[in-house]
Amino acid sequence: MAVSAVADLAAELPDGVVVTDPDILASYRQDRAADPGAGTPLAVVRPTRTEEIQTVLRWASENRIAVVPRGAGTGLSGGATAVDGGIVLSTEKMRDITVDPVTRTAVVQPGLLNAEVKKAVAEHGLWYPPDPSSYEICSIGGNIATNAGGLCCVKYGVTTDYVLGLQVVLADGTAVRLGGPRLKDVAGLSLTKLFVGSEGTLGVITEVTLRLLPPQPSACTVVATFDSVEAAAGAVVTITGQIRPSMLEFMDSVAINAVEDKLRMGLDRSAAAMMVAASDDRGPAGAEDARYMARVFTEAGATECFSTADPDEGEAFVAARRFAIPAVEAKGALLLEDVGVPLPALADLVGGIAKIAADRDLTISVIAHAGDGNTHPLIVYDPADAAMTQRAEKAFGEIMDLAVSLGGTITGEHGVGRLKKPWLAGQLGPEAMELNRKIKAALDPDGILNPGAVI
Ligand SMILES: Cc1cc2nc3c(=O)[nH]c(=O)nc-3n(C[C@H](O)[C@H](O)[C@H](O)COP(=O)(O)OP(=O)(O)OC[C@H]3O[C@@H](n4cnc5c(N)ncnc54)[C@H](O)[C@@H]3O)c2cc1C
Repeated sequence: MAVSAVADLAAELPDGVVVTDPDILASYRQDRAADPGAGTPLAVVRPTRTEEIQTVLRWASENRIAVVPRGAGTGLSGGATAVDGGIVLSTEKMRDITVDPVTRTAVVQPGLLNAEVKKAVAEHGLWYPPDPSSYEICSIGGNIATNAGGLCCVKYGVTTDYVLGLQVVLADGTAVRLGGPRLKDVAGLSLTKLFVGSEGTLGVITEVTLRLLPPQPSACTVVATFDSVEAAAGAVVTITGQIRPSMLEFMDSVAINAVEDKLRMGLDRSAAAMMVAASDDRGPAGAEDARYMARVFTEAGATECFSTADPDEGEAFVAARRFAIPAVEAKGALLLEDVGVPLPALADLVGGIAKIAADRDLTISVIAHAGDGNTHPLIVYDPADAAMTQRAEKAFGEIMDLAVSLGGTITGEHGVGRLKKPWLAGQLGPEAMELNRKIKAALDPDGILNPGAVI
């Protein structure tokens, strides 16, 4: 019956939109989290227009078929994991963008990559700030559905701060417009924000109106190495208490060495931690911030500290930081964490993770958007080693429990997806969980949108 339903859907859509080739289906089963529980979809559907997505969702509602929305599949929490008997709805072919320099806005379809949005708006002398490390490979739709963060968010905020409006197709196929190209607009409930970060569970985002900024001034970059991670974490709290850097990133020794193995750029392999910080304040203020950060790093015990106003030199260190996840991934399979804490608890979080690594006899590398208190502990394991896999899974839960016990969160930017779902109630508590469930039930009463994810 499901197979004939897929044939009915294919007949309603232009040729080639519905794909059932098993080799292609296999490549849409998982996102970058490589969830071992992934199912095999009945079909991958790749529409080009909002109206086609409406057709898909009307059909899915009538036939009670699960729909897993998918952008570029770079998610790290299993949010785009396919389910058996469902379809994967990929927005990769929806790639239009219109930039309006007068209102400093852009109307974008979800399949355009973050880097492509940045490039298109730069041609009009404008800047779209949110910059996940994956910006060259992730879609803007996926960024909105996860409320993605990144490196410059410590000063410029996260994706939601740039979303003025959305077009969303609901579970029953209704297309709704929320917000628009207005910088201030408080009419009605704040529904635009409800869909940002909803991880494909409430509707499919088919168009977004983004707020843009004038180009970012060039930055002064400060790089410092430490022989203790706690000293580096302490410097973060001092700096954020005084100024607003445009970047404040952290790498531990495992990440430093993994990056150095690949890039050979002369990073200090003996360092316990490296900070990459920047200020893009205009004129002498940027240089003054850089001098201040260098002083704080030195007083916190930095073993080396280096500043540069040369954008290419600064960018080389930023690129090294961005490369940390793929570099550590070369050491083994990863269970990738995204826990965050209020800044004063950062040193306790990093210290607690080191203890979990020692207790479980595991390598856990920590990289962090440190200025946001958002860490990415990378648990390295060998999936062929059952005992090690079990220890890694235990550590995965213990790290989230630790973050929550420090007043933190199980996810700062990657989302709950499927992999973090068992820990959500522990953070939110029963009342907030119930409110989440009520909202989900109101918008998707048959539970066809991304079932198994988040709530
Ligand atoms: C090397 C690496 C570095 C990364 N660095 C960062 C980082 O610095 N910051 C950060 O935030 N993330 C980072 N990520 C994670 C990932 O890139 C982001 O979560 C990104 O926003 C996902 O976008 P995507 O297009 O790949 O979405 P997908 O993985 O395809 O989907 C992500 C979620 O969004 C939903 N979704 C996708 N499109 C839509 C839509 N149109 N409508 C409704 N729901 C939709 C999916 O169902 C899923 O739940 C990194 C990933 C990698 C591999």
